[in-house]
Amino acid sequence: MLGLMMQTPLLLSSILTHAARSFPDVEIISRTLDRPDHVTNYAGLLRRSSQVANALTALGVKQGDRVATLAWNGYRHLELYYGISCIGAVCHTVNPRLFVEQIVYIINHAEDRIVFFDLSFVDLVKTLMPKCPSVEKWIYLGEAADAKTAGAGDFPSYEELLTGRSDLYAWPLLDENTACGLCYTSGTTGNPKGVLYAHRSAVLHSFAAALPDACRISLNDTVAFISPMFHAMSWGMPYCAPAMGSKLVMPGQKVDGESLHRLFEEHGVTFANGVPTVWLGYVQYLQSAGVRPTTLNRVLIGGTACPSSLMEALQDDYGVEVLHVWGMTETSPVATISKALPKHKTQSKSERRDRQLKQGRAVFGVEIGIRDGDNNELPHDGKAFGDLVIRGPWIARSYYKMPESERADGWFFTGDVATIDEEGYMQITDRSKDVIKSGGEWISSIELENLAMAHPEISEAAVIGVKHPKWDERPLVVAVRRKGSKLTPAELLAFYDGKIAKWWMPDDVLFVDELPHGATGKLLKTKLRELYGDHVLP
Ligand code: ADP
Repeated sequence: MLGLMMQTPLLLSSILTHAARSFPDVEIISRTLDRPDHVTNYAGLLRRSSQVANALTALGVKQGDRVATLAWNGYRHLELYYGISCIGAVCHTVNPRLFVEQIVYIINHAEDRIVFFDLSFVDLVKTLMPKCPSVEKWIYLGEAADAKTAGAGDFPSYEELLTGRSDLYAWPLLDENTACGLCYTSGTTGNPKGVLYAHRSAVLHSFAAALPDACRISLNDTVAFISPMFHAMSWGMPYCAPAMGSKLVMPGQKVDGESLHRLFEEHGVTFANGVPTVWLGYVQYLQSAGVRPTTLNRVLIGGTACPSSLMEALQDDYGVEVLHVWGMTETSPVATISKALPKHKTQSKSERRDRQLKQGRAVFGVEIGIRDGDNNELPHDGKAFGDLVIRGPWIARSYYKMPESERADGWFFTGDVATIDEEGYMQITDRSKDVIKSGGEWISSIELENLAMAHPEISEAAVIGVKHPKWDERPLVVAVRRKGSKLTPAELLAFYDGKIAKWWMPDDVLFVDELPHGATGKLLKTKLRELYGDHVLP
């Protein structure tokens, strides 16, 4: 027998209209490079998103069409998020930090019809135009007058497109499984692959992300999206925070430590999301300027493992709680989060810290497991490690235009290698491609990196496997020393003594000026292997 409850579809238009109805005056602030901060509110967001919807409809955009953005985090980008998706078209957020060939590849793969771009990407757009035949219109995010200064004179402007359009739109009652957003993985492990979000998955993910033991987003919060809106939809926050009625703050292009501190202080930010690199810059600024956050009380950190030194600085020195989260573009992305249980309260600080450094327990809605090479479930004992698998309503079933990527067993294979302990805490030990295979056993590159980064004179470190005649691969540390440090390789290796099994000890250390990062701020291990994979070990 079926229940007798309403079948109201879960749609992003319900978030937009709810925010405008229940929180019309709640502010949305965007930092701009050359003007004072732009201020609007949820009532304004609904009006302008409706104008976007009317403009797109007039341009002939239909349900299912892909409309792309090449933009930083700002109010116009947010209007496009809702205006595009809520008419049933697909908002394809293109990552401008990818290599040009990758951007060309994904725009062509997605067959985008329109691209909206920030003026800082004019030159990039001019390079892309001849190579992207599906795009009928390139529209810059600005006013007509902006074109003169930015060299965008030949392009139509967003503000002109919206002028005179009605600010009312009758949002269609779409099937909740309609695609709403498209985001390509950043390609740290191969060609970018398209993850096609649905209204239903985005709304359910918003509920889950907001929960008290996830990000506890509420109407009392001022939420800053620091993670780019082109990277897994800023981790779903542009949907989650308006649903809860939080005040919003968007940083624009600048996310260095000083800019973030100013932004947070000026607008009373309480919660923000970002990869560890961003928070390392933030903490370094707080330390060097001798200032403290006065309103920020928690940050969502993910994308790569949170170094313990960063966690300690944020929590112990500045009273900012770290919500250590694991996820990927394919998981919308919030999937596991590292929170202590009530019974852990009596444990020592270091025991609690070690647990918090794990990637955490599955949030309600998703299930995780680990598998051996023959796809057998491995025990959850905190020791066995294998391929991490996941399933749930906001996890990708398959990639865009790659039906063969759907698995018959209904699980998604993450490409991460992990352990899960008796209490359900998952710990990433590596990416399957980065794990160091030494004499048939696996060494976690991440664990060795974290240890190196715990050294007070190291600002960043990476560990890769390099070829070894006897053991197949052995670990090599490639690290950046803090300014003025004279640390030697032997001293760094001595720092590992007693902290790891003897056979995990790296064979060598190389100090470099900087490490290569990919489009989302993560270490580019592929590049490191290219550069140092043939390094001759002592
Ligand atoms: P890409 O796959 O292109 O790097 P994603 O943002 O989708 O882009 O990356 C997801 C990956 O990032 C995960 O599979 C995992 O390897 C890594 N990751 C995410 N969060 C964490 C975390 N908290 N700790 C360790 N690794 C993480």
